[in-house]
Amino acid sequence: MTTPAPAQIPKQVTSEPLLAVASSYLRHADLEALERAFQMASRAHEGQFRKSGDPYITHPLSVATILAEWHLDAQALVAALLHDTVEDTALTAGDILRQFGKSVSELVDGVSKLDRLEFQTEQQAQAENFRKMLLAMARDVRVIMIKLADRLHNMRTLDAMSGDKQRRIARETLDIYSPIANRLGLHRVFQELQDLGFRFLFPNRYQVLTKAIKAARGNRREVVNKILLAINPRLTSFGVEAQVTGREKHLSSIYNKMLDKSLSFSQVLDIYGFRILVKDVPACYLALGALHTLYKPIPGKFKDYIAIPKANGYQSLHTTLFGPFGTPIEIQIRTHEMHKIAEAGVASHWLYKSSDTPLSDVQQKTHQWLQSLLEYQSESGDAVEFLEHIKVDLFPDAVYVFTPKGNIKSLPRGATPVDFAYDVHTDVGHRCVAAKINNELAPLRTPLSNGDRVEIITEDNAAPNPAWLNYAVTAKARSKIRHYLRTMLLDESVQLGQRLLNQALRALKAAPESIRDAQWEQLLKGDRCKTRAEVLAEIGLGRRLNVVVARTLLSRSDLPVAEGQQSITIRGSEGIAVQFAHCCRPIPGDPIIGIIRKGQGLLIHTQDCRAIRQYRSDPDKWVDVEWENATGKMFDVAIKLMVLNRRGVLATVASAIANAQSNIDSVSIAKPDGTYTEINFTVQVRDRAHLAILQHQLREIPEVVRMTRVQN
Ligand code: MN
Repeated sequence: MTTPAPAQIPKQVTSEPLLAVASSYLRHADLEALERAFQMASRAHEGQFRKSGDPYITHPLSVATILAEWHLDAQALVAALLHDTVEDTALTAGDILRQFGKSVSELVDGVSKLDRLEFQTEQQAQAENFRKMLLAMARDVRVIMIKLADRLHNMRTLDAMSGDKQRRIARETLDIYSPIANRLGLHRVFQELQDLGFRFLFPNRYQVLTKAIKAARGNRREVVNKILLAINPRLTSFGVEAQVTGREKHLSSIYNKMLDKSLSFSQVLDIYGFRILVKDVPACYLALGALHTLYKPIPGKFKDYIAIPKANGYQSLHTTLFGPFGTPIEIQIRTHEMHKIAEAGVASHWLYKSSDTPLSDVQQKTHQWLQSLLEYQSESGDAVEFLEHIKVDLFPDAVYVFTPKGNIKSLPRGATPVDFAYDVHTDVGHRCVAAKINNELAPLRTPLSNGDRVEIITEDNAAPNPAWLNYAVTAKARSKIRHYLRTMLLDESVQLGQRLLNQALRALKAAPESIRDAQWEQLLKGDRCKTRAEVLAEIGLGRRLNVVVARTLLSRSDLPVAEGQQSITIRGSEGIAVQFAHCCRPIPGDPIIGIIRKGQGLLIHTQDCRAIRQYRSDPDKWVDVEWENATGKMFDVAIKLMVLNRRGVLATVASAIANAQSNIDSVSIAKPDGTYTEINFTVQVRDRAHLAILQHQLREIPEVVRMTRVQN
């Protein structure tokens, strides 16, 4: 961007060209602010030069002047003057905030953010997403306008760059920026960006076409004048007051037409374009009728963009006629109001605002623009849909984020890394354990912002967590998580059901292995469950009693239950069908009991847990369970310590826990009360024996005055 100072002394740059344009519509105070911003930017860019050798300040000055030609408000012009200072000079966002206030500093920040985005891939679909990302990030339409003016000036001065750079910037302009200008209805900006892009991307074709057009011009003018002499009186005889002009075709549109329709240069140039401006909508249709009596219309070429406007608000009647020499004549008919919007789009509201409305905030302006578009076509039934269409593009309800490879994904607003992971692939979703956002680890629940670069970290044996449903927002992620949990619950329930059934059979003095298929078939006959697995799942989920099923299988409804029934064993790794109560947090070695939760499987409590007293009297509600030897899993226990307030006591406690081969899961420290502090730990242990070792270690610490395992 900057090069060494040129040999000759640069001439003094002043704000004169900008003020000359801005003074036609801005107030005195605004002009003063412009001058201050210009001075500030000049000092900041002092000693920096453009590739062309011009002092760098000529660039922001030109950008601001372009915006002044569009009649943008003073804040936008000030921001344009300062738009490169935060990135490229010693000035900070804070300096701008102090000097010019919040709005200006937000505009500068918005432009800087867009500058930092890099568009990498060459795919068409990615370009579309990138444009949407820019629009979404800008939030304020003025940021996009400043960015477009910035690009326009850079394109106008692209000659100074090397051929490689010219082509890259030209391609980017054609892929990203000129479509945005088109989207916003900034027709003139769109045309200029297209022509400049074409010129630098295809310099030879540009040369050839320019020469050819020049050569054909004289001849064309003659034809145009003849047609005008026929059209004008015809309109008058139909009582239409109109302003008729011949249109010169833009180079890039001639070229695109040649490509799109496989026409030769002379075929494209043989088409003559005219624009007819009238006072109101009825006059448009009247003019159309008048012209159709003059020359025959070419069938299939008529388009009514008044009834059905283009997505950027463009309205006109288009028709193509057989001209006097057999050449096609393209006609656009529109009102003066429609013409303003066709030329300037969203800028038309700054350009043509009535002088008595004060400069209000930009959202309101954009709203006015949308509103005015709506009014122009209130006759058409598609108005609401049309407005929705524009809104989606200008204020998208989506966030656009990068994958590690630079591709762009669109997700609904509020989406989290979990949504992103499932969008990449179901397997990535199921196995995701952590996420990096812009290279930093972030919780999976973090809402994503536009422009974030998201990377998902997976582990092979990881599984979806039910808690994800609290913050996953996409339908895809939610349904995949739900489906997974349901399937897992079912699998585990079948296994648990089998164990519960075996327990009941043994209690009835029957060996589980002795049950034959015929007995199962007998049971399933007339049952609402169709398969053995369904029956087992119902038992596991607590919807059916194991004893009842066992009795039915044995066809002995009166069989007494044997004393000292066997309990089922718990490994601790059962997952969803068997869970451990948070109130008492049982660990291996604790006497436990399984409470049957209807439809949710078993919840394991300690036998003395107060939360289960009500269930003990109802034998249908609980089952005897016991621990399997050496579960190999770690269990959470809560421990409360009362310690003396001494420096370093927490470190001593933490290292004692580590010495006992236990992990700290969480710690919270109550406010110290003079002498003592209460510390609450959640630590992980294998079983009661392991907990005893840990407790012993902690008691050894002199500062520990009391220790309790927290249950309930
Ligand atoms: Mn710039």
